[in-house]
Amino acid sequence: MIGLVAEIIVDVAAYPVDRPFDYAVPLPMVPLIENGSRVKVPFGPRNVLGFVVNLKNHTEVPADKIKPISQLLDIEPVLTPEMLELAKWLKNETICYEIDALQVMLPSALRAKYEKIITLQNSIEQLPQPLQPFFIRSNKINYKEFEKSGLLHELKLALNEKLVIIEYVVKQKGKVKEVRKVQVTDDLEKINKIANELSNRAKKQKQLIEWMKEHPGEIMDPETLYSETNTSQQVLQALIDQGAAKFIQEEIFRDPFSKEVEKTSFLNLTEEQAIALHKISNSIEQQQSETFLLHGITGSGKTEVYLQAIAQCLKKGKEAIVLVPEISLTPQMTERFRSRFGELVAVMHSGLSVGEKYDEWRKVHQGKVKVVVGARSAIFAPFENVGIIILDEEHESTYKQEDTPRYHARDVAIWRGNYHNCPIVLGSATPSLESFARAKKNVYSLLTLQKRALKQSLPTVQIVDMRDELKKGNRSMFSQQLVQSIETRLEKNEQIVLFLNRRGYSSFVLCRDCGTVLQCQNCDISLTYHRSTEKCKCHYCGYEERVPQTCPQCQSEHIRFFGTGTQKVEEELAKLFPEARVLRMDVDTTKTKGSHEQILTSFGNGEADILLGTQMIAKGLDYPNITLVGVLSADTSLHLPDFRAAEKTFQLLTQVSGRAGRHEKPGEVVIQTYTPEHYAIELSKAQHYEPFYEREMLMRHQAGYPPYYYLALIQISHTDVMQAAEYAHKAVEWLRAKLSFNVSIIGPTASGISRLQNRYRYQCLIKYKIEPDLIPTLMQLIKLYRSDWIKKGILLTVDLEPTMI
Ligand code: ADP
Ligand code: ZN
Ligand code: ZN
Repeated sequence: MIGLVAEIIVDVAAYPVDRPFDYAVPLPMVPLIENGSRVKVPFGPRNVLGFVVNLKNHTEVPADKIKPISQLLDIEPVLTPEMLELAKWLKNETICYEIDALQVMLPSALRAKYEKIITLQNSIEQLPQPLQPFFIRSNKINYKEFEKSGLLHELKLALNEKLVIIEYVVKQKGKVKEVRKVQVTDDLEKINKIANELSNRAKKQKQLIEWMKEHPGEIMDPETLYSETNTSQQVLQALIDQGAAKFIQEEIFRDPFSKEVEKTSFLNLTEEQAIALHKISNSIEQQQSETFLLHGITGSGKTEVYLQAIAQCLKKGKEAIVLVPEISLTPQMTERFRSRFGELVAVMHSGLSVGEKYDEWRKVHQGKVKVVVGARSAIFAPFENVGIIILDEEHESTYKQEDTPRYHARDVAIWRGNYHNCPIVLGSATPSLESFARAKKNVYSLLTLQKRALKQSLPTVQIVDMRDELKKGNRSMFSQQLVQSIETRLEKNEQIVLFLNRRGYSSFVLCRDCGTVLQCQNCDISLTYHRSTEKCKCHYCGYEERVPQTCPQCQSEHIRFFGTGTQKVEEELAKLFPEARVLRMDVDTTKTKGSHEQILTSFGNGEADILLGTQMIAKGLDYPNITLVGVLSADTSLHLPDFRAAEKTFQLLTQVSGRAGRHEKPGEVVIQTYTPEHYAIELSKAQHYEPFYEREMLMRHQAGYPPYYYLALIQISHTDVMQAAEYAHKAVEWLRAKLSFNVSIIGPTASGISRLQNRYRYQCLIKYKIEPDLIPTLMQLIKLYRSDWIKKGILLTVDLEPTMI
């Protein structure tokens, strides 16, 4: 007879079948095992990690075939029942392995090496008798001690009653932050003895030992010691050799919040804010899952609405999840939450070390915090009583994960909102077309903030036609208008932000006389310039042509590929304004941890006049002294080979412009462009979203793109270009045979980045409206790939609703 059986999702990559496997639960494990616990199980010749997703009393597997679980890793589950359900949904929604969906919800620390420590929470007397002896000498005991003792069941009961808790201490050799310090011996006699024996010629040593006499036992930073005593490392080393002091390593405790935050109180809401909050409150009160789109111009006070809605949830004993794009997760941003909710806030972002991230996750898991502010993956915060979920800057493409599981945080938010019967608030000054279209159809409830909260006027925006500059003989990347505006600010000691629009990897070919950009004949998408072959290619359909010598529109010879780096701009700035202090922020200057914040802080402190940067500076900058924003090239993102190019350009220009004049001093924005007549640029001038929305929807309708159609992107790669092409064709033929005629299948074509890490990449794009067979068909394709193509070295990925094509 078989006792308890566990259904287990195993961690075996690239196995053709994705389903739970049955394993027998050994008798001693029966009272300990739960859904959501991790286990080790035998799978083929190996022992692999698995997750318990169901427990039952029977199995189809014959008794002599079923294998027992070899090890139970958690006696307290790491995943909640909600997460197990969510994983099943993600698996279908994003077409991934269930194991990938389960793993993505856990902090990576749980995949690293760690120790489990049991910590006593209350007094020892409250513990069951058999457990008491463990805690007599310390309130922290290694889990291994219990494993040996056979008292795991008692321990589990104590855990359930929260008499003790489990902590996972990540073993990260060298990753624990330590600093080297000097410790003077506390043995004064010894110091005196050394002092007496020192030769008179060792003047510096004498100096230092005299100081040590005054400071026995003191621990300090060596550099401070040298400067305070006017000595050096050699002098100290000589005394260390005689035993007067020693070097020690001191651990710096992980604290993502380096400084204390002052408490702030609630602001009196403006009328618009009050109306928005009222509607969200209703949904909280009535425990209704409702998705709101909070459309508010930059500076309209969306954050204040979030804060007050969260406060209301906390009052009802519920929790809140706030998502913010990674680059907006600045200390300035998180402080606004900490200043209201203090220690109840956990912050999760990729700048934290594995251990720090894990610390924050654990605070959530143990219910020590009630609010999570974090980037995309914080949507999986393991709260069990969620009262509100907020996505700030909901239009940002970083909410979509580019690796498996390819989920969109917005979709997960809505799923969790349904699960917890709570409101979801999507906030933006420039909502994604998809979201605004849903709001128009009343799928989402639209809330609007049209005025700035502090009644500041929006900055004045000037659009400079760079074609005219060239005609006037100005070949520089700075227009006369921009040069003048910069000079004025430098004189007044006001600050300037210069934005270089660089998105993606590719460049396009532009005529500097008439602004024409080479377009694909078939796709209405800009052609991408390939330096190596001197050719322009369309990576949607494969069309290619040589770079023409003259412009096809105006026959000018000033036609060339376009794209400038920040470094080049910096050099030019130095020539034009030698007296200006410039800070540059791009991928090169922000490689090390914390450098992003450092640059922002130093700019905020007025240590520079000009901040020059890429998209990184478009967000979160809120300094009163910024009165000029210059956009060097609005066109760059406009001509990307992406059907969302216009939308992204409009969003960027609105974001960037929103950085100027947020406080008392009025702001000015100068936008340089070769295509001032393009609607995305023209309409960004007045920052009117709706006219842009209407215009762009028209384009999408004509071209058959989202939100009118859905997209699925299939990518196939191989180290051999012929193989990659062959299997891409196979996939397309296979799909053509299975899918209905209403579906258009474009491709195969070489991908935008046609070779990556020595793999040649091909893709095909599926456009569809309603196609019930699509997901099952794609799953079949994946099965074919996993059971056969994968052995030939092919890699195939499916991305539903891709953000980058
Ligand atoms: P958004 O997130 O919409 O860009 P913010 O929340 O950053 O706008 O608000 C812009 C500024 O207005 C902030 O300095 C904020 O403190 C202030 N603010 C917001 N709401 C109010 C209010 N009701 N009364 C006074 N100041 C407010
Ligand atoms: Zn031209
Ligand atoms: Zn094309």
